[in-house]
Amino acid sequence: MGTIKSIGILTSGGDAPGMNAAIRAVTRSAIYNGLKVYGIYRGYKGLVTDEIQEFKSQNVSNIIQMGGTILKTARCKEFTTPEGRAQAYENMKKHEIDALVIIGGDGSLTGARIFAQEFDVPCIGLPGTIDNDLYGTDTTIGYDTAMNTAVEAIDKLRDTTQSHDRCSVVEVMGRNAGYIALNVAIASGAMAVLLPEKEFDMQRDILDKIAETQKTGKRHFIIIVAEGVGHAQEIANEIQARTGIDSRATILGHVQRGGSPTLRDRVNASAMGYQAVCLLEQGKYNRIVGMKGEKLVDYPVDEALEMTKSLDPVLVDVCNTISI
Ligand code: ADP
Repeated sequence: MGTIKSIGILTSGGDAPGMNAAIRAVTRSAIYNGLKVYGIYRGYKGLVTDEIQEFKSQNVSNIIQMGGTILKTARCKEFTTPEGRAQAYENMKKHEIDALVIIGGDGSLTGARIFAQEFDVPCIGLPGTIDNDLYGTDTTIGYDTAMNTAVEAIDKLRDTTQSHDRCSVVEVMGRNAGYIALNVAIASGAMAVLLPEKEFDMQRDILDKIAETQKTGKRHFIIIVAEGVGHAQEIANEIQARTGIDSRATILGHVQRGGSPTLRDRVNASAMGYQAVCLLEQGKYNRIVGMKGEKLVDYPVDEALEMTKSLDPVLVDVCNTISI
């Protein structure tokens, strides 16, 4: 592989606020370094179907504050087949794209890893997912915004829950990872949190806690449930049936995926986008960029995808200790 003269950029899988800031940073850093940039639409789908457009600086104007992704995103079945990936490679060659920056979650970065191995294409992955379930980075692009969106909604819910002496069971996103749920539970002052990482017992984790809390005179209860744990409505029904407390379920759903990114997501995404171009310029290929504290880091894609990260047990203790 000779020196890189042009970079393709795509967003893939679930969208996350801050993806636009990353697109902007990659585009502008590449142009700054004298490289051409191509925007690839709808993730790997655009690579397979040739939905590719050269980007100038103005193509990424006025997007740093926008949620979603101007490149759109999609899931692409064809790219999971060797034929689909061969077609994607043909389109890269056609546009003379030398390297790819992929912004997405676990699945998207796995696709990048396979593609890089098969066709010797230099790839850099940026962790873009609200779930924060990628190793090699403390925070993924979109995670901070999603948590803030959830907390803002739960603050509103708390007003009405408190006024009516109700129990609110709030389902937040995070199918396999409880990062959003745990942090949001602490920040919203929830009585209990149900995490995918911990087996849950209705009696011990909810009913006993409600009884304990009632002794302090409390009459309203907020319970946060990560979507991977169970159905908020069923949990609310059971609480009502067993305690007599008027219980409601609220599923925050996809609102958590949208909205203007927070400062933290904008800065992280901008720094990661810049770093992706630096790595390609330095000939460091097939790596995933992350943030450790406020410091940029990068790891080989194989290492990053094979390891898992876990919730901080101290934060779990914080949540349990101050919830009653
Ligand atoms: P996320 O990146 O948010 O985890 P997905 O798991 O849906 O989202 O992956 C997004 C896309 O990445 C898929 O639609 C597919 O095109 C590609 N992809 C995922 N896994 C693989 C794989 N094992 N091989 C090739 N491509 C993959």
